[in-house]
Amino acid sequence: MDAILSFALASMKIVGAVLLTRLLIENGQIWQEDRFLRDHTLIVADGVVRALQPADAVRARPGDRRVDSRGAYVIPGLVDLHVHGSNDCDVMDATAASLSGLSAFLVRQGVTSYLGTTMTESAEKIEAALAAMRNFMERPYSPLLGIHLEGPFLNRDFRGSQAEEHLRPPRREEYLPWFAAGHIKLITMAPELPGGEELMRDACAHGVTVAIGHSGASYAAAQGYFARGASQVTHTFNGMVGIHHRQPGFFVAAIERPETTFQVIADGVHVHPAVLRMLLRLVGGERLLAITDAMRAAGLPDGRFALGERRVTVKDGVSRSDDGRLAGSTLTMDQALKNLMRFCDLTLAEALPMVTRAPARAIGVYPRKGSLQAGADADIVFWDEELGPRATMIGGALIEPAPDPCIAATADV
Ligand SMILES: [Zn+2]
Repeated sequence: MDAILSFALASMKIVGAVLLTRLLIENGQIWQEDRFLRDHTLIVADGVVRALQPADAVRARPGDRRVDSRGAYVIPGLVDLHVHGSNDCDVMDATAASLSGLSAFLVRQGVTSYLGTTMTESAEKIEAALAAMRNFMERPYSPLLGIHLEGPFLNRDFRGSQAEEHLRPPRREEYLPWFAAGHIKLITMAPELPGGEELMRDACAHGVTVAIGHSGASYAAAQGYFARGASQVTHTFNGMVGIHHRQPGFFVAAIERPETTFQVIADGVHVHPAVLRMLLRLVGGERLLAITDAMRAAGLPDGRFALGERRVTVKDGVSRSDDGRLAGSTLTMDQALKNLMRFCDLTLAEALPMVTRAPARAIGVYPRKGSLQAGADADIVFWDEELGPRATMIGGALIEPAPDPCIAATADV
């Protein structure tokens, strides 16, 4: 048996770090891109998926360990591109303890990769959050994959619950050092601001995916933005100019470019289920990215919470600022997946790409993330048939909590 490694991520503990031996994941229904396969064995070594083989073709070697995943779905870890916090933690707290609490919570819901999402704040606060996230990402088995900069370069008229007093036009002296320090994978911005086009170009040059959001960009202007680097729409239909049949707005320009993707807060509140179904019919599951946009109240009972420098009230799981605006969500990714299935009448296999492959591809990390192909990181979620979590693995290491008979049955060969 491998020595059990205790793990620095406070409440996350690695219960089976299996870096030198092979793991044979057996007896489950194993996801392969568009379907589940039975009677196959997924072979993991050195934190990476090595192969998928028919069970009767696998030759166990001395030192191999078996993971009996009978009765479980074996799926790639979920990818959330837009999450501010959960579990009374927020990335703007800018502390390792908060990132640890957030990570532990997300891993429990099956999220193995997330972009810590900042909010519109002073430069000092944003820089503190960026620094804390950069440090936290260096930890082994951290699910924090990178940073999503939401603001501060947003359009005041579509700010939602972003802090108005900190909105500002982009200045290179401010943002270039942020990009240069690395790890920013996604920016939500309003390209119509003065300096917006230059910001878009600079972001692209640093390998940052550009999402248009909190924006009033017109259809005509947005055709140019999407042609010159923008490739995503942030929390579609929220914090953006709507569609008018004579003034289509940037949403319609995004629809018309096949490579553009659409974040959706799939809680049934931010976007009505009927509109979610419409969007899915328009763009298909490969362009639709389920996100949570969750804030610190996710996972907690209703109450009053901080969101940046202001207070919000969560009632029946819906978070609003005192002026009545929706202010983040309390959604979790596993619930987002279940909602997609329910709202759009989809099977698990039909909905799964929208929480795995599509978001991973949208920031250029597929198939290393969002896939269980050979060569992918062994970020694996084990769910029972009701989609209840049994265990989560990051980089081939089984992470607590969720000890379950199916997973506890790992055994030396
Ligand atoms: Zn937002």
